Amino acid sequence: MALFVLLCLLGHVWNLQVSAAPVNNAFKHPQSAPKFWHISDLHLDPTYHITEDHTKVCFSSKGVPALDPGVFGDFLCDSPYQLILSAFSYMKQADLQPEFIIWTGDSPPHVPKEELSTDVVIDVIANMTHTIRQFFPQLPVYPALGNHDYWPQDQLPTSANAIYDAVAKLWSPWLNPEAVATLQKGGFYSLVIKPGLRLVSLNTNLYYSPNQVTVNMTDPAGQFQWLQETLELSRQKLEKVYVIAHVPIGYLPYAINTTAVRESYNERLVKIFRNYSDVVQGQFYGHTHRDSIMVLLDQQGKPVNSIFVTPAVTPIKSLLEPYSNNPGVRAYLYHPENYGLLDIWQFYLNLTEANLEQKSDWKLEYIMTEAFDIDDIQPHNLHELALRFEQPQSKDFDKYFNHFMVSYNFSLTCEGLCKTIQVCAVHFLDQETYSQCIAKAGI
Ligand SMILES: [Zn+2]
Ligand SMILES: [Zn+2]
Repeated sequence: MALFVLLCLLGHVWNLQVSAAPVNNAFKHPQSAPKFWHISDLHLDPTYHITEDHTKVCFSSKGVPALDPGVFGDFLCDSPYQLILSAFSYMKQADLQPEFIIWTGDSPPHVPKEELSTDVVIDVIANMTHTIRQFFPQLPVYPALGNHDYWPQDQLPTSANAIYDAVAKLWSPWLNPEAVATLQKGGFYSLVIKPGLRLVSLNTNLYYSPNQVTVNMTDPAGQFQWLQETLELSRQKLEKVYVIAHVPIGYLPYAINTTAVRESYNERLVKIFRNYSDVVQGQFYGHTHRDSIMVLLDQQGKPVNSIFVTPAVTPIKSLLEPYSNNPGVRAYLYHPENYGLLDIWQFYLNLTEANLEQKSDWKLEYIMTEAFDIDDIQPHNLHELALRFEQPQSKDFDKYFNHFMVSYNFSLTCEGLCKTIQVCAVHFLDQETYSQCIAKAGI
């Protein structure tokens, strides 16, 4: 098993050169506001190595020649360990004094099923867990499982198994016994992480369309009931809630009429989050590998929840995709008392440049409030922004689309159908309103 052998060979090299924290004069919120990091979709490819034969650079390119392989990766490959180390080194040296890290899953590489096994998947997750813990020994980390964090991929089960068992053990130093117990049983958990703030980590992979295990199940692993009870209890205790998960709710921003989770499950999640929008202060997802926002409207069309999808660390794309993403990590700023979200600082690595210079110069890509001239990232401001995106030749939308690709290629544009799909996905999360939005565009 080639992947397994290479995993064992991975060293821990810390002394990378990275630049200091970003300097910016346009902050709308005090830089001292409490912050947390969000990382997602690390997708380590332990087979990545530079070699003359570009078809052999990484297993994750599946025999396709790598485009321009360098020390920090290639746009047809998953992450070399070096890229992941550079991201964590930057986060450490940026010294934002974060309160915690959220980590929304997908550690193993995109390789054929035969290249992996339950043991290899556990080894990759363990490697990533230990790497994060070595960089941030004092920081609590709250993970969510991704659809690749299982073998075979996507088939996450509704009861205890070797992988839920392994992650429950690996992540137990960051959790409490009750959270460890539900994680071990169903791959989800919740715990209070600050006075009056609960984190809910959902296993939305149970609702993911390719998951054959849960087909026709009304409530896989009893997670809907558990979520409802958890949010109800939080409401009674006057807690606020951050929801983290891997596969997002809503519609994909790059495919027409396609929800990320099965449509009936999406309807149910949207209903629950509408009912508890007074409790939920933010929702944080990964999985699409791209940077996007959604704003949940209630049935009267009033914006009630802010939803964020963070871009991946892996730069991988398939050969036929027109664009990819540069590697990204981000920090959120929040209000210290009511936990309302204030801002996003999005950081990225220009992969082409980094490979050329053989130096990982992670940089600030944008500050959300500054980039779009909004006061904060509360639902009404995101909604107002989404309305601006709708306008023809919207400069704000062009900027949003560049951020979507993590500044991968400024010459690419998104108009017509591409723009309609993007914009409808930002502010319509249920079947009825989404299809009205698409119909209105005359497509
Ligand atoms: Zn992924
Ligand atoms: Zn995924």
